[in-house]
Amino acid sequence: MIPRTADIVIIGAGAVGSSIAYHLARRGAGNVVVLEREMVGSGSTSKAAGGIRVQFGTRVEVEFSLRSIEFFKRFEDEMGVPCDYRQEGYLILLFDEADLARYRKNVALQTSLGAEVRIVKPAEARAIVPELRVDDIMAAAWGPMDGYASPNDVVQAYANQARARGVQILEGTPATAIELSGDRVTAVLTPEGRIETPLVVNAAGPQAPLIGRMVGLEVPVDPRRRHIFVTDEFAGVRHPMPLVIDRKSGFYCRSEQRQVLMSAGDVGTTTEFSASVDWSMLGETVDKAVRRIPALEGASIRHAWAGLRPLTPDEHAILDWAPDLRGLYLAVGFCGHGFQHSPATGQVVAEILTGAPPSIDITDLALSRFARPQSERN
Ligand SMILES: Cc1cc2nc3c(=O)[nH]c(=O)nc-3n(C[C@H](O)[C@H](O)[C@H](O)COP(=O)(O)OP(=O)(O)OC[C@H]3O[C@@H](n4cnc5c(N)ncnc54)[C@H](O)[C@@H]3O)c2cc1C
Repeated sequence: MIPRTADIVIIGAGAVGSSIAYHLARRGAGNVVVLEREMVGSGSTSKAAGGIRVQFGTRVEVEFSLRSIEFFKRFEDEMGVPCDYRQEGYLILLFDEADLARYRKNVALQTSLGAEVRIVKPAEARAIVPELRVDDIMAAAWGPMDGYASPNDVVQAYANQARARGVQILEGTPATAIELSGDRVTAVLTPEGRIETPLVVNAAGPQAPLIGRMVGLEVPVDPRRRHIFVTDEFAGVRHPMPLVIDRKSGFYCRSEQRQVLMSAGDVGTTTEFSASVDWSMLGETVDKAVRRIPALEGASIRHAWAGLRPLTPDEHAILDWAPDLRGLYLAVGFCGHGFQHSPATGQVVAEILTGAPPSIDITDLALSRFARPQSERN
């Protein structure tokens, strides 16, 4: 049965919406309803590679990472289930002076905030990943705190813990319209009925612009497809292999138990709302893989999937109230880091929605930044 009223309606039960629901419930936020058109986690979250890194270039994102890493470390105690969290490191390969200078600056920022990251020479990069080709790299950024966890385990745990605290998560129930009275949000419509509410959270991931259009708001989120290919069990590299990112080609890979998970980067240049696997991507992925780690030539591909990364123009998320409206909050545009930042996002958004000051300064994630010239942004 669909409830007739709610204090807060969250649209979308991905990592972001489910974490917000969980953290709202922990704060005793009242009657919270989550609308999910498919199933919990079935959107971009279930397609994520699970990567968790402190290697970001802005203060707010490094702080989100550090806060989220604390959460992943205590995940099993707090959530009652494991999430396969491993700190096996990220090794980012750098090819030219400009990139090296940018990463030196980022590393200085990251370490000043308490993260462990350093620039290493090619020989040390090869000591970390012995199968790596390093003759064409200038240096690498090595983050031993970085790692990964299982997105599905994490999102299901948020949802289960939220439900256990009274949140109603309605799967198979799309939001079809948002009703306004003047500039104030009054209700969300679904095929099952209308839910009266003063507060709606847009956490619809790649579909966030479609929710924005329900109230005439352009949300600058542009979903792009990305593929992941996973090899068979493969002994040709040393496991665990940290996540290696080739900055020149966009390729990345890491161990997944004794398999290797890899991606060639984004495909497509236009907004997409569906994410089927394009097997013609395999050739490009394998070429990039073998160029960087020649031993991968001996691997065979076992399976693949594709998903949508909800990109914003500057590749930073948007956490803000919708302008000129009362009662619509945007938690959107998490690009390639929405899974890993979901713990901090849930905490901070729950603070804001319950009237508390946010424990991380999120002014840099305001929607209004897009109204400023690019040169004035981060
Ligand atoms: C291949 C790939 C690899 C990635 N790797 C990583 C990684 O290593 N680390 C990382 O942190 N991130 C990664 N990401 C990015 C990450 O997946 C996203 O940033 C994150 O999942 C966004 O979470 P979300 O909750 O905002 O969106 P979603 O998980 O997409 O959740 C939004 C939900 O809203 C629902 N919805 C949409 N419209 C409606 C509606 N009208 N009514 C009700 N429900 C609706 C959808 O069904 C969906 O379940 C990757 C993404 C891809 C595609």
